[in-house]
Amino acid sequence: METKRDFLKKLGLLTVGGAVAGSVNPLQAAVSNAKAGGKSIGLQLYSLGRELSANIPAGLKKVAEIGYKTAELAGYGGGKFYDSEVADFKKMAADAGLKITGSHVNPPVRKYTVENKAEIADFWKKTVDDHAKLGVITLVQPGMPSVESNDEAKLVCEVFNNAGEIAKAAGIKWGYHNHSGEFQKAVKDDDKGKRGVQGDIIYDLLLNGTDPKLVFFEMDVYWTVMGQQDPLYYFDKYAGRFPVLHIKDRSVLGQSGMMNFENIFNRAYKNGLDEFYVEIEGIKTGMTQFEGVKQCFDYLNNASFVK
Ligand code: MG
Repeated sequence: METKRDFLKKLGLLTVGGAVAGSVNPLQAAVSNAKAGGKSIGLQLYSLGRELSANIPAGLKKVAEIGYKTAELAGYGGGKFYDSEVADFKKMAADAGLKITGSHVNPPVRKYTVENKAEIADFWKKTVDDHAKLGVITLVQPGMPSVESNDEAKLVCEVFNNAGEIAKAAGIKWGYHNHSGEFQKAVKDDDKGKRGVQGDIIYDLLLNGTDPKLVFFEMDVYWTVMGQQDPLYYFDKYAGRFPVLHIKDRSVLGQSGMMNFENIFNRAYKNGLDEFYVEIEGIKTGMTQFEGVKQCFDYLNNASFVK
């Protein structure tokens, strides 16, 4: 991806002092490498469900043949990736010509407590180790922990920051992926039981309570809309916190008419988007998952607003 910064650099308009001190953003670097032969469009492999698990090596090849350059996994468990040892899975992806840039993993507990914080940290240490061997850039928690009050949100943020720190030490960026439940309101502990008191939106508590250097947010734009919120509002309000998106619609992208992807991409790029993954959760009847995934690719590949 040619960022505005790259463009300015080429023109010699960016002074040395203006360049970001230190390292190149690895996500941007991976994406620009992948883009050498066209747009870098990623796929969350959850979209393929059983059709992928039927034959993983052939499925990965098919994903690459459709034109996807990168993939985000949803198949880590027991130290294995889609039931394969890390080296074997790595080879399968390489043979397919698919770059595995991310992975979704949930910790073993949904309710975080002071007592189980250490257990969750151990889980992330092992998970990060395994993913470092695979060579992912991002590791994302897709499932919402239990949050009802501001105090619970605070504890969740501590656990997230800690996971982010563990991942960062291995050179991996740690993020959180939302559904619609995050747009419910938490209750302040002092207000519990009071009628008509409006609390804070949980998603805002998570954004405000986590360290931007440790935790990024992979917004699922469809689930944000389903939570009756506007993705654009969040991109502006929390600029730079959404380097990765899930591009999702009710089924095939662009068909429901409820998602304005042009506005979403334009505003997300403006606020620091590096990478995105297509996702289909509800496939239309009479269509295979691979057909749905191919139609989504075509939609974005033909869209002028996707860089
Ligand atoms: Mg999603």
